[in-house]
Amino acid sequence: MRPPLFISACLVGFRCRYDGSLKEQPGILSMLEGFRWIPVCPEQYAGLPTPRLPMAFVGGTGQEALGGAARIIQQDGRDVTGSILEASRALTRVGIYWGIRYAVLKERSPSCGVVSTYLEENCVQGMGVFAAVLTMSGVRVYSEETIKWGELS
Ligand code: SF4
Repeated sequence: MRPPLFISACLVGFRCRYDGSLKEQPGILSMLEGFRWIPVCPEQYAGLPTPRLPMAFVGGTGQEALGGAARIIQQDGRDVTGSILEASRALTRVGIYWGIRYAVLKERSPSCGVVSTYLEENCVQGMGVFAAVLTMSGVRVYSEETIKWGELS
């Protein structure tokens, strides 16, 4: 049996994206065969509704948000950093308890982005908060664009 992993719920067909749209990654369910995978959405776990307003970082990206130097701000100015951080930490604790060593996450999200995310209106290099928390906890994170399935063993 291959190792257990977290996967962004929107990549496997859950309508949890901010606009409620369906963005299942083509072919991903067949790539997941043989893995024990757990779909997670840190923004829903944080109690945010779907649909919800778009959000982006201010002051830095996920790594900086861990130290309090960056915030995630919704389009209406609401600061949702605390709830997403708390949800990310809780999910990470549960994942580690269940032996999660990998996560495959949705690129560019302020929660799940692995290589890039949104800083104000610009797509920049940097992680989302959930990806940063997982990485700090020793979980190896990939995005749907960087995943090399053969490396997960
Ligand atoms: S990218 Fe992450 S936070 Fe956004 S909808 Fe997908 S699972 Fe939820």
